[in-house]
Amino acid sequence: MTDLFEPATFRTALRTWLDENDLTPPDDHSLQGHMQQFARVQRALYDGGWSRYGWPEEAGGLGGPAMLRAIVGEEVVGRRLAEPGPYSMLEVLTPTMIDYAQPELAAEMVPKLLSGEEQWCQGFSEPGSGSDLASLSTRAVQRGDTWVINGQKVWTSFAQFSHRCVLLTRTGDADTPDHQAITAFFVDVDTPGISVRPLRTMHDVDEFCEVYFDDVEVDSSRMLGKPGDGWQLAMDLLPYERSTCFWQRIAYLYSRFDGLVDEVRGRGQAIDVDMGEVYLALHTLRCRSRATQHRLAEGQKLGADTSIDKVLLAGAEQRLYDTVRDLLPGVIELDDTEWRTEYLYSRAATIYGGTAEIQRNIIARRLLDLGKE
Ligand SMILES: Cc1cc2nc3c(=O)[nH]c(=O)nc-3n(C[C@H](O)[C@H](O)[C@H](O)COP(=O)(O)OP(=O)(O)OC[C@H]3O[C@@H](n4cnc5c(N)ncnc54)[C@H](O)[C@@H]3O)c2cc1C
Repeated sequence: MTDLFEPATFRTALRTWLDENDLTPPDDHSLQGHMQQFARVQRALYDGGWSRYGWPEEAGGLGGPAMLRAIVGEEVVGRRLAEPGPYSMLEVLTPTMIDYAQPELAAEMVPKLLSGEEQWCQGFSEPGSGSDLASLSTRAVQRGDTWVINGQKVWTSFAQFSHRCVLLTRTGDADTPDHQAITAFFVDVDTPGISVRPLRTMHDVDEFCEVYFDDVEVDSSRMLGKPGDGWQLAMDLLPYERSTCFWQRIAYLYSRFDGLVDEVRGRGQAIDVDMGEVYLALHTLRCRSRATQHRLAEGQKLGADTSIDKVLLAGAEQRLYDTVRDLLPGVIELDDTEWRTEYLYSRAATIYGGTAEIQRNIIARRLLDLGKE
């Protein structure tokens, strides 16, 4: 019997399955279209078992190492069957949700996400709290078995399509130190008092939202961890955002690099040194990320070291699209092309999931021990 938990065997079997099951996206490049296609792909992967590998059995998965999930992401996103943005929410939110939720809650909810029945969002950032997340002010006050939440989140990706939100709130009193006063909840987005307002980005997509909480009542069984565990939850979540999640984005960037090579060749232009540099940046990133996937697979706890992955990803992504701009004159400035949308989105790579400046500070202080200034 073949061992499907062995990554090479798993990849071969998955590729065969993907070749035999046509999940080609329809010609609909709207965000709505991408979300529908993502749900369709997840449904098919779930029914075939693929999206359940690498997730714990207690949460509806089929077990096996996290690397299996990374392989599914690489194949699905690398083939452009699903877009990397919506796909990323699986990897960003689910591992930590499983670690902190009451087991019954994880067992009930995780299959809904893995099967494409639901989409979830991440309610961390606020108008005054991004890099300085510990200063967040959305407040949760206990009233018996219920917590009442008031405040506002911003930049909440895909909130308008989401059924649940992993939400950070402030609890405790004025004397509680910031990092011990943050508590996370798993909130139903259709709870009375929640309003979601999409925001248009510069690449002309309503990807982000403002989310308002007005006396929103959440049962204490929806708390993730204990009161005050929210900061640790956020710190545990970020390394996932930069490990299995990055692997699929890297696959996507490689597929776009191939697209650039085709287009440059199609115009009769030579493959030049700039493209060599892009390839090198992508390859460096992939090597680094591969080591990160292996550390995760060995059960190591990832932390500040993943800031290196983030810096490399942002650099490679922006270099790729800068090269598109230089080698395909006008496609970004003048034409309404996929390249234009992607170029504009790539500017966000040094912002989302922790800005480039903050990552460099972390590398300097925590990895290189260079001190505060
Ligand atoms: C595409 C995208 C998707 C996102 N999705 C989500 C989401 O789903 N959920 C969510 O909660 N958030 C999301 N965000 C928000 C993201 O987490 C924040 O934008 C990020 O944390 C930065 O916070 P900020 O925008 O408030 O910028 P600020 O923190 O105000 O930073 C502004 C500038 O100041 C610099 N800076 C700040 N502090 C320091 C410092 N101490 N030292 C040096 N430089 C500093 C920063 O590097 C940056 O250049 C998303 C953002 C983007 C771009």
